[in-house]
Amino acid sequence: MKIKTRFAPSPTGNLHIGSIRTALYSWLFARHNRGIFILRIEDTDEERYQKKFVKAIIDSLNWLKIDWDEGPYYQTKRFDRYNDIINNMLNKGTAYKCICSKERLDNLRKSQIINGQKPRYDGYCKTKYNLSNNIPHVVRFSNPQEGYVIFNDEIRGRIKFNNKELDDLIIRRSDGYPTYNFCVAIDDWDMGITHVIRGEDHINNTPKQINILRAVGANIPTYAHVSMIFGPDGKKLSKRHAAIGILQYRQQGYLPEAILNYLIRLGWSHKNKEIFTVSEMINLFTLNKVSKSPSIFNINKLKWINHHYINTLPAEQIAKYLSQYMNIDCDSKLIKIVEVFGKGYKTLQEISKSCNYCYENFFELNIDCANKYLNYSNYKLLESIRSKLLLTCNWNSENIHEIILNTSKELKVNMNIVCMTLRVAITGNDSSPSINKIIELIGLKITVSRIENALDFIKNIKILK
Ligand SMILES: [Zn+2]
Repeated sequence: MKIKTRFAPSPTGNLHIGSIRTALYSWLFARHNRGIFILRIEDTDEERYQKKFVKAIIDSLNWLKIDWDEGPYYQTKRFDRYNDIINNMLNKGTAYKCICSKERLDNLRKSQIINGQKPRYDGYCKTKYNLSNNIPHVVRFSNPQEGYVIFNDEIRGRIKFNNKELDDLIIRRSDGYPTYNFCVAIDDWDMGITHVIRGEDHINNTPKQINILRAVGANIPTYAHVSMIFGPDGKKLSKRHAAIGILQYRQQGYLPEAILNYLIRLGWSHKNKEIFTVSEMINLFTLNKVSKSPSIFNINKLKWINHHYINTLPAEQIAKYLSQYMNIDCDSKLIKIVEVFGKGYKTLQEISKSCNYCYENFFELNIDCANKYLNYSNYKLLESIRSKLLLTCNWNSENIHEIILNTSKELKVNMNIVCMTLRVAITGNDSSPSINKIIELIGLKITVSRIENALDFIKNIKILK
């Protein structure tokens, strides 16, 4: 049997951490078993569905390199198929039209609650055959009255539901739209899904879907329900704890490698191993090691893993991510920047903030630093360094260091003051890696123009005085 799994999000919001984790587990399970992974967009919820969220789903998966073999399928394009099946079910008596008014249903519900019963439809219309299509109606599934639905969840073990507890659920609304659980069951059948891996919030949908699948004579897939993700306070993960949307993590400068690595470990383990390449994930992933208990989201661990990847991936790779992040060219200059700046930082955002003055568009002069260092007593040293740099034959950090050192000796100015003055002039701020390395990186042209701007700044102060 060829394994086939699916990721089936509803485009009603940005994909959150939990959804991406189930996508990852479904994808890994398919890849581990050399099976097929499909993407299905469950867009039947017309009111909440938005096109921009479909794009966000596809962007998120592409960013994380979770690739699909089939799809994206859209439920809204399959209405003919759903209606064919509903009509067949009406003929066979596994579904029926219900013409109950809202008033009747409200009264039914009230009286059931008063009598301490679980509110459910009472089957009033089940025996009313041959109702005309012209009368407004919904179509209900005729759920079995007796027995149990039992399934073996790959993560949670045996789960049992009493049919008496299940409702005759509406499978087509009065406006002609088929409903969620029905579409999901039919899709899983039509698409040959062998393993449904999804969040545990779907457990209560599973017996409904199994009963529908049985009624249409379909195979029942294997189910695996992944636990919830909680915040550190033990409450369901929400915006209070951390960013929820996965694309926010891209904006904050996390690497796809780090997100995947963090998410696989959030609820799955292999010995004490923390760092997994994608091919290791594919080789090692099995459902029986997925935890039954809820996972606790920990932003510091995600940062730690991100730092690990920034530290260990080749500079070329980090430069590629950084160029996308900062929207600049990925060239040899950027690779050198990563080599000079890269190691200490936890996110691309941090690297970007620290190194952006290496590019003309991002330069910003910190006025406090400028007032402290760009004053008339340092005018001469900046001028001297500018002249020497213009005459340099070999543009490298060693020669630049020589120039700085010689200027310090010639003008009898403390080396620390020379470096700080130069640093403020060139980077706009008072902290950076070795200034000779920065000057080498940004090149003669930008360096000289910034020194000249600093000299102008000093002149202007003098005029003002
Ligand atoms: Zn009815």
